[in-house]
Amino acid sequence: MDFKSIIRDIPDFPQQGIIFRDITPLLAHRDGLTAIIQDFKTKFAELNIGEIDCIVGIESRGFILGAALAMSLGCSFVPVRKPKKLPSAVFRVEYSLEYGTDTLEMHQDAIAAGERVIIIDDVIATGGTAAATAKLIQQAGAELIGYGFLIELDFLNGRKALPEVPIVSLVNY
Ligand code: IMP
Repeated sequence: MDFKSIIRDIPDFPQQGIIFRDITPLLAHRDGLTAIIQDFKTKFAELNIGEIDCIVGIESRGFILGAALAMSLGCSFVPVRKPKKLPSAVFRVEYSLEYGTDTLEMHQDAIAAGERVIIIDDVIATGGTAAATAKLIQQAGAELIGYGFLIELDFLNGRKALPEVPIVSLVNY
């Protein structure tokens, strides 16, 4: 499936000068989610990264893709959320944005030490969000074995910000 032709470009959202890549038309396509998950599975299989115990999905579009992938792989799914959403004890990481900081949280008991984990999100831009999520996995004592992004914005070089494990991206701009 030609994902790029279905992903919608929205100029000047959420700010002037930014082209927002809107994946909702792809999710709305009857074969879209199936094709995305199949593509992730094929590409991770090609990398020979071995057994996957857990998919960590980043709020909020990472929940959609991550949960579907976890279901298809038959592994666990763990949400990483914005602050004050998770009700039990959390690991917390603060990270820098262009202006200010942001925070992500994950339940402390969500992943057991040593579990083999993949991070899933819709887009990698500067890499800050995924790098912060990698820190949460480290706090849990789990093993990060890969990242999967539907979209990679190559010109922002976000992969440079990430700890070095294999990265799968399905669409590049
Ligand atoms: P980063 O931390 O700069 O890599 O930004 C990645 C986060 O911002 C992800 O959680 C994305 O959901 C979101 N994001 C950045 N750019 C876009 C976009 O063009 N479309 C959809 N989400 C985006």
